[in-house]
Amino acid sequence: MKLVAALFLLFFLNVSIHAEELSFAEWVEQLRVEARSLGISESTLAALDSLEAPLERVLELDSSQPEYVQTFTRYLGLRVTDRQVSRGQALLDEHAELLEQVRQRYGVQPQYLAAFWAIESNFGSTTGGFSVLQALATLAFDPRRAEFFRREMLIALQIIDDGHISADGMSGSWAGAMGQLQFMPSVFALHGVDGDGDGKIDIWNSLPDIFYSAANFLSKSGWKGDERWGREVVLPSNFDFALAGTNTRKPLQAWSELGIRQVSGAPIPIADMQASIVIPVGAEGPAFLVYDNFRVTRVYNPPIFYALTVGHLADRFTGGAAIQHMPENEQAMSIADIQELQERLNSLGFDSGDPDGRVGSKTRNAIRAYQQQKQLPMDGYASFALLEGLRN
Ligand code: CA
Repeated sequence: MKLVAALFLLFFLNVSIHAEELSFAEWVEQLRVEARSLGISESTLAALDSLEAPLERVLELDSSQPEYVQTFTRYLGLRVTDRQVSRGQALLDEHAELLEQVRQRYGVQPQYLAAFWAIESNFGSTTGGFSVLQALATLAFDPRRAEFFRREMLIALQIIDDGHISADGMSGSWAGAMGQLQFMPSVFALHGVDGDGDGKIDIWNSLPDIFYSAANFLSKSGWKGDERWGREVVLPSNFDFALAGTNTRKPLQAWSELGIRQVSGAPIPIADMQASIVIPVGAEGPAFLVYDNFRVTRVYNPPIFYALTVGHLADRFTGGAAIQHMPENEQAMSIADIQELQERLNSLGFDSGDPDGRVGSKTRNAIRAYQQQKQLPMDGYASFALLEGLRN
C-alpha cells in the first residue's frame, strides 16, 4: 500500500524541475532530496551514489529514428518461428501446473501468458541488461519526457526500498522496462503480485511472481478467460473497408450478416460479443476479427502488430494454423516515402497533418478520403501503389 500511496502522491505533485539548468550531479542530489521526502531510506538512496553520467547508449536508442516502416511480414516473421512455437509448447508443458493455478485465479489462459513471455523477453532470456536506475536517471535528466521518467525513477527506488529487489539486481531495458515481462516500475507498483509467497515480488527470477503479476495486470485490464483474442477471417468481395479499424465495433451477428467468414469458409461462431476488423497490410493482406482480449493486449503494449502477434502465437502454441493470407511480397516503405505521400495528399486537399513520415489516424483518414474520391477500396493503408497513384 505504501507504494501505491506514493504513486498517487507523485501523480499530484508537480515535479517540473528544470533539469537542463542543472548538472547531472546536482540533479541527482535534488532527486535524492525528493526521494527522502517520500520516505525512502538512506540505505536505498545510497544506490544513487553510483549513478554515472547520462548513458549515451540510452539516449541514442531513445532518439533513433527508423529509416523504414516496419512491415507486418517482418515483424511477425521475427517473433513467430517454428522454433519459438515448439519452445513455447515445451515450456507450457513444463510449467503447466503453475500456469493452471494462475488461470484459475485470474482467468488468463496459459497460452497467452506464454505468448507475452515469448515476445517480451524470449521466454526470459533477453530482459534488457541495463541498470534500471541508470536508464531511468538518464531519461529523467533528459528534458524531453523528464516528468514521466522521474516519476518512474522514484517508484523504482520505492520498489528497492520495499525489499523486492536489490539496486544491482534491478535490470531492464534501456527505457526502464523490468524483468521477464517488461513492467515499468509504475506497472509493477500497481499490478505486481508475490506469486510464490516469499514476501517479495521478483519479476526478474521467480516464474510464479512473473506469471501472477502479468495475469493480474491483464485481468485488471479486462481480460476474459472464456474468450479468444480474435481470429483470421475472410472478407466478402464487396466489403466496405471504411468499416475496418478498431474504432468500429459491431456484434458478431452483424459481421456475419455482412459476409465475414472463417478462413475455412465456415460461418463465424456467434456469441454476444463486440468485434472489430483489423487489416494490418491493407485490403491486399490478411483480415482479422478481433475481440475484447485484443483490446486488453493493447493496454499491455499498444501497437496493432504486437497484439496480432501475441494472439497468433498463442494460437500456434495450441496447434493453430499459420496465418493463411499473408501478402506475397510486402515491401517496406521508407519514412521518406511516407512523407512524400503525406505531402502529396496535403497538396490535393486531403489533410494528413504535418508530413512526419508516420502513419497515424489523420493520415489514414486522408488516405480514405482520397480513396473514396478515386473509388478505390477505402482501407486507409499507405502503400507503394497508393504513392504511385498520387504521383500520376
Ligand atoms: Ca515472490
